[in-house]
Amino acid sequence: MRTVYRLLLLLTALACFQSVHAAWVSGEEAIMGTRISVQLWHQDKDQGKAAIEAVMEEFRRLDRKLSPYIDSSELSLVNRMASLEPLVISEEFFRLLETSLEYSALTEGAFDITFASIGHRYDYRKGIKPTESLIDRSLPLINHRNIRLDADRGTVFFEKQGVRIDLGGIAKGYAVDRGMQLLQRRGVQHALISAGGDSRLLGDHRGRPWHIGVQAPRDKGNMAAVLPIADSAISTSGDYERFFERDGIRYHHIISPDTGRSADNLQSVTIIGPNATRTDALSTSVFVLGTEKGMALINRLHDVETIIIDKHGKMITSDGLADLTQ
Ligand code: AMP
Ligand code: MG
Repeated sequence: MRTVYRLLLLLTALACFQSVHAAWVSGEEAIMGTRISVQLWHQDKDQGKAAIEAVMEEFRRLDRKLSPYIDSSELSLVNRMASLEPLVISEEFFRLLETSLEYSALTEGAFDITFASIGHRYDYRKGIKPTESLIDRSLPLINHRNIRLDADRGTVFFEKQGVRIDLGGIAKGYAVDRGMQLLQRRGVQHALISAGGDSRLLGDHRGRPWHIGVQAPRDKGNMAAVLPIADSAISTSGDYERFFERDGIRYHHIISPDTGRSADNLQSVTIIGPNATRTDALSTSVFVLGTEKGMALINRLHDVETIIIDKHGKMITSDGLADLTQ
């Protein structure tokens, strides 16, 4: 009896100890050219902090692999070598290329990682852009069909000299999903990971939804909408993220593969969906497609919703959005 009593006492003490230590833990770091922030609920604060560090390390690993600004990244290697001969690439890189090509097919070419064949000539911070004639001459390089994947050999080959790729339209979403997998494996049940415009939410905010703001495109710091959501991903693409203006034209980082120039139909696109790889790729795609084609695509897909802010600042939402946020 005494032993049972002692055991009970010990268990009660343990329970108190745990609830004292259970807490929201958060961390922030600049990686992949953006601000990565992680917030999670953990029974043990130190373990929570270790989980956040694991997520940050995953972002750093993916940055080293996928960055166009790091010479030793696999992406830079592919850009240097893949138009010479088929190049063997890592399984993870191969899968990312396959996924990117799936989105090219789904969006009738609006999502196209070969945009970089011209895109790499822009420097938005310095206000540098390619000449109009260079854009016109280089336009045939932008085409996802210039990328040949061979699944048996695990190789990639670019069909034309001068083709370049960049995974900037999908890499952050992918990294967010990878980070969330890590947290789930560690038993975390409530978390937010966000990488600039791409976020994913695990569970709710303990009894209430998470509230995610959609930035007002022309009013920095203010929200156009705040969405109560749980257990989903949300991405926003906007023409205000990286841009410069010259002679009344806004040169920004989302390139229409048809014209080789900044897509100019919209101010921002927000996509809500099951995972961040998907919402990231689709937000970039719908930005290129514009209101009509973009909305038609999203209403055809059953696992995603959208908020579009068009070039006049008007907000248009997809059919199922109201149900999702209620
Ligand atoms: P996001 O902020 O997710 O819309 O991503 C924008 C990034 O996607 C740009 O900075 C480019 O790296 C990349 N990108 C631009 N245009 C395209 C395009 N048409 N298809 C795929 N990626 C693109
Ligand atoms: Mg995107």
